[in-house]
Amino acid sequence: MNKFYFPDEEEKIKCPVCGEDLPTESNYCEHCGWLQHSRPSAPDEIHWDGNFVTLNKARQLYAAGKPVQPDFGDFLKCMKVYNELEFYCRGKHYGLLHIHDDTWHFYEWNVMDRGYQIYGSIEEFAEKANIEGVLLKDLWDEVYDVGTAS
Ligand SMILES: [Zn+2]
Repeated sequence: MNKFYFPDEEEKIKCPVCGEDLPTESNYCEHCGWLQHSRPSAPDEIHWDGNFVTLNKARQLYAAGKPVQPDFGDFLKCMKVYNELEFYCRGKHYGLLHIHDDTWHFYEWNVMDRGYQIYGSIEEFAEKANIEGVLLKDLWDEVYDVGTAS
């Protein structure tokens, strides 16, 4: 069985999060921000599909009138799936990379000579990662544009 459901071309696509009809050529729901191309059969898991919250979490956020954005806990779960993610905070671009030796590297994008942080586990990253001394977990409300590293 396929992990994802792909509607055939003639079928009208409805967003699985907000329920709006979408043009078949569209890959992105402009109503709620969900990436359309996948409908995971396990709606309480993060999948490598370009979305950063679970389908059920996205539905809850949308129903509550909130943006479909990952909180810090969602971001940590995403890192176990994507291994490399980027985001912006206060106008600066940051990345987190999980390396084969099981270290977690957190850095400002293209800035390697200051603020570079290496952690031995995702839990340590969650506790200690900081931007100019302010813990990332305390800054998370100011994070935006979480994405797969490009
Ligand atoms: Zn939608």
